[in-house]
Amino acid sequence: MQIRGVLSKSGTTNRIDAALLVAEPGQAAGTLYLARADASGVTQAGILNVTSSIGGSDTRLQLSTGDVFHLPAGTDIEMLKPFMPRSAWASSRLAALERVNWRGAIILSFLFFGMIFAFRLAVAPLGDLATKFVPQHLVQTASGSILQQLDTAFLDPTTLDEEQQERIRADFQKIVALAPPEFADTRLHFRSSSMIGPNAFALPGNDVVLLDELVTFADDEDVVLGVLAHELGHVTSRHALRHIMRGTVVVVGVSLLVGAEDSILEEMIGFGGSVVLAGHSQNFELEADQQSAGWMRAIGRDPLALARFFQKIEKECEPYCEDGGFLSTHPAFKERIKVLAAE
Ligand SMILES: [Zn+2]
Repeated sequence: MQIRGVLSKSGTTNRIDAALLVAEPGQAAGTLYLARADASGVTQAGILNVTSSIGGSDTRLQLSTGDVFHLPAGTDIEMLKPFMPRSAWASSRLAALERVNWRGAIILSFLFFGMIFAFRLAVAPLGDLATKFVPQHLVQTASGSILQQLDTAFLDPTTLDEEQQERIRADFQKIVALAPPEFADTRLHFRSSSMIGPNAFALPGNDVVLLDELVTFADDEDVVLGVLAHELGHVTSRHALRHIMRGTVVVVGVSLLVGAEDSILEEMIGFGGSVVLAGHSQNFELEADQQSAGWMRAIGRDPLALARFFQKIEKECEPYCEDGGFLSTHPAFKERIKVLAAE
C-alpha cells in the first residue's frame, strides 16, 4: 500500500511529493519504505515521532531519515500505526478527535478560545513584570535614540520664543515636583512638526515632547499644561515601556502557541493581540487623563483643561475623529470628557 504525502527537510521550505510504502508486493512484512518523487530508489525508514496540528490540516511524521512527512487530513493511518512509537498514540488520538464530528469541533474550539483567553489575561501581567527587569539606564538610552530618530524623520526645531518656552517649562516643573522622585529629571523637549500636527507625546524614558502645533492649536496655556500633565502621567506609569513589553509578550506568545508554519492561525491570533493592545492603550489613556486632572487641581490650575482640548479637537475633526481610524487606539473623546468631568 502507498500512503501519499509531502516531504520536507526540517529547517528548509523545500517540499516534494513522497509516499510511504507498507506491505507492497515483494516488501518484507513489518518494514516501512520511503519513496521520494525526486529519487529513483526507495529507502527504509522509521517513524520517530508523530505530531498532529490542532485544527490544522496535516499530521506530521518525524522520520528516521531526518525528513518530516506530512499526511493530508483524512488520510487513513491504520496501516502506519504499527510503526509509530508508543508515545505517538496520545497525539494521534487527538487527531482522531479532530476527524470525529461537530462535537470534536466544539471541544477543540473551546480549547482554542480558552487558550486565547488565558493568553489574553496573561499579556498585561507578564508584560508589566518584564518591564521591571529592564534596566533603567537602557530605557533612558533607548528613549534618547528614539527621539534622535524622530528628529531625523518627523521633527523640526521649535519656533516658540524663549519667553513662552520658559513659562511652559516652569509650569511643567510644578507638576514634575508632585511626581515620585525617580521622575524628577523628566525632560520637556520642544519641537515642531507639520507632519504630526497638534500633539505631545511621552517616550519610554523620562522624556516628554511638546509640538509647537499643539501650543498654537490650544491657544491656552492651561490646556497645554493639562496635556503635558497627561503625558507626564504616561511617564510615571511607564506606559510606553509597558506597551512595548506587552507587545513583545504577544509576539513571543503567538510564536510559542502556533509555531512559524501556520500563517493563517498566526495572523488570527496576531490580530487578537493587536486588539488586546488597543484595549490596553485605551486604559492607559484614561489613567493618564485622571492623573492630569489630579495634578492640575493640586497646583491650582483648571483640572478640566484637558477636556476642553478634547472638545476642541472633536469640533475640528468631525466627523472623522470619533470612532476613527487614526486615533483608534485612543478612547472616544466623549468618554474621556465624561471621565474627566467625573473627576
Ligand atoms: Zn496619551
